[in-house]
Amino acid sequence: MFDIAVLGGGPAGLTAGLYAARAGYRTILIERGFAGGQASTTDKLENYPGFPGGVGGPELMMAFEQQAQAFGLEEKYGEVTAVDFARRVVAVDGEEISARAFILALGAKRRELGIPGETENIGRGVSYCATCDGAFYRGKRVAVIGGGDTAIEDALYLARFAQVTLIHRRTELRARGAAVQRAKENPAIDWMLGRNVQSIHREGGALRLDFKEGESLGVDGVFVAVGTVPQTEFLRGALEMDAAGYILAGEDTSTSVPGVFCAGDCRKKPLRQVITAASDGAVAAYMAGRYLEEN
Ligand code: NAP
Repeated sequence: MFDIAVLGGGPAGLTAGLYAARAGYRTILIERGFAGGQASTTDKLENYPGFPGGVGGPELMMAFEQQAQAFGLEEKYGEVTAVDFARRVVAVDGEEISARAFILALGAKRRELGIPGETENIGRGVSYCATCDGAFYRGKRVAVIGGGDTAIEDALYLARFAQVTLIHRRTELRARGAAVQRAKENPAIDWMLGRNVQSIHREGGALRLDFKEGESLGVDGVFVAVGTVPQTEFLRGALEMDAAGYILAGEDTSTSVPGVFCAGDCRKKPLRQVITAASDGAVAAYMAGRYLEEN
């Protein structure tokens, strides 16, 4: 029996693990993929305080993990498939792990467009991670779909070695700030605004994107960056969440179930960044500790 089980190993979970372990609680962190979550697939963070020149996402996340490990955080790699908070257990690849309190730091994953030709071409030209797959497109033509911060950052990253077309459904970008200006000034990025991709077709070794507006574009790869969805499907019915699947918890990270706390991108909140995830993780560990002392 652990004192605290943290589900998810992104910046929220790693920070919760650091705080909980450092406070002396026997803490286990369960992660199905690799530590660091989405932040580990970010080339460079320019707005995480303390790094005037920016910091690499994988580098920062590795440091988060090492720091938590140094305080005795235990880690288990596996997928949580079911929870029974009444019995205080979670099922990880068929094995039950018991804890007195839980911190849900499940993060979010990239949203799919849901158009014909998308799923069929994942790994064959369609990608959701520019920093993971961008290097395959050196000297090639790629499209980035989306108008938020992720799309702009993906376009800037890919423009280092590929010719990029940024496609957004509206004529106005959602992203704001210095990165947008840099992208606008980058000669390797051109823009197709007010365009909706309605299907993706394979043509030889390349892809053709057809637009609702009637045109089409040939590219070697397409990077989809149209937002994120929380990874909370398996929790449906276990605690309160909104229609989109974000867990309802206030700034104190308490969920509708006593002893269960929520941190990071899977929580309903206005700003999803590494720093707000880390902040949630610290609060959740503190609140879980308080819960354990009171119960
Ligand atoms: P986002 O801000 O939700 O933007 C998603 C973009 O995709 C929007 O432009 C949206 O269009 C478009 N979109 C959504 N569904 C679509 C569809 N079915 N077809 C075509 N386009 C679609 O998502 P994000 O860029 O991944 O960012 C997520 C969060 O992380 C945000 O809070 C963002 O600020 C933050 N973030 C911050 C940084 C940073 O500060 N450095 C970097 C990355 C991400 P509309 O605009 O028309 O809705």
